[in-house]
Amino acid sequence: MGNKLIFIFLDGVGLGRKTDSNPFLKASMPTLFTLIGERLSETTNILEQNLLVKGIDACLGVDGVPQSATGQTCLFTGFNAQAILGHHLMAYPNDELIRVINKRSIFKYAKEKHVNSIFANSYSDGFFKSFGQDSTSYSVTTHCVLAAQLRFNSVNDLLRNKAVHWDITNKTLQNLSDRVPLISPFEAGQNLNNLTNDYDLVVYECFLPDLIGHKRDMGKSISFLEMFDEFLGGVMIDKSPNVNVLISSDHGNIEDLSTGGHTKNLVPLMVIGNLAKDFVSINSIDEIFNAIFLNAFGINDCGNISCI
Ligand SMILES: [Zn+2]
Repeated sequence: MGNKLIFIFLDGVGLGRKTDSNPFLKASMPTLFTLIGERLSETTNILEQNLLVKGIDACLGVDGVPQSATGQTCLFTGFNAQAILGHHLMAYPNDELIRVINKRSIFKYAKEKHVNSIFANSYSDGFFKSFGQDSTSYSVTTHCVLAAQLRFNSVNDLLRNKAVHWDITNKTLQNLSDRVPLISPFEAGQNLNNLTNDYDLVVYECFLPDLIGHKRDMGKSISFLEMFDEFLGGVMIDKSPNVNVLISSDHGNIEDLSTGGHTKNLVPLMVIGNLAKDFVSINSIDEIFNAIFLNAFGINDCGNISCI
């Protein structure tokens, strides 16, 4: 059986200090604790047969605090977007980053290399109704789907358990539509893992931790971490041995609620599965892309943007 990989991108999760402002020290996370044997913090550094957890750099040698558009472009193209722009860019990619994404990004590259991939996230009816009207507010991942000319998952895919909404449980869809039932985080995790029956590379994005981190709300932060832990339990429960789960982020935020902004903290790189040790040399977020294609799918191309 060939390797498969689930890439879970959590927006705004760093490895924080062991202080009162770090919700990781307060949340009940039995799945994670059973897996790594400690609470996730800046001192976590684990390499075992089927598990890697380490902190990696999201600043990439560029002054200032790391931001979403550049960080996510690093994660999903493998290029140092901060260095290309010369600064960190907030929120949504600008024309220069979109050009990078259109050259090489995760789904387009997968397609070119015959790796069957999917962006697991579902899009609401509103996205399809206004499609193309305001692409300045499209995320990096949305541009990655467009660059590869893949279809966007809709609410109908959610209803068939073939997608996962960005908020994990469909909570934010309840006011918009009565068609979509709430599901448990565990079920959502099972749905994500089940996509590996049909796809080799499954990418999922959750930006709740960044939203909550900006509000500096400890209660909601703890609730999110506990929900994510249950979600991860669902991903893991029936995971096949040939499926690896990789979790990372674009910058810190929720791990330090003493500030409402992003942090310069290292972000986690977690790999659960038989390829864990192959990812140990990664030290920054722009190195994840090439490592996924090399380690999971045996594809070793030039990683330099001048080569494409
Ligand atoms: Zn972000």
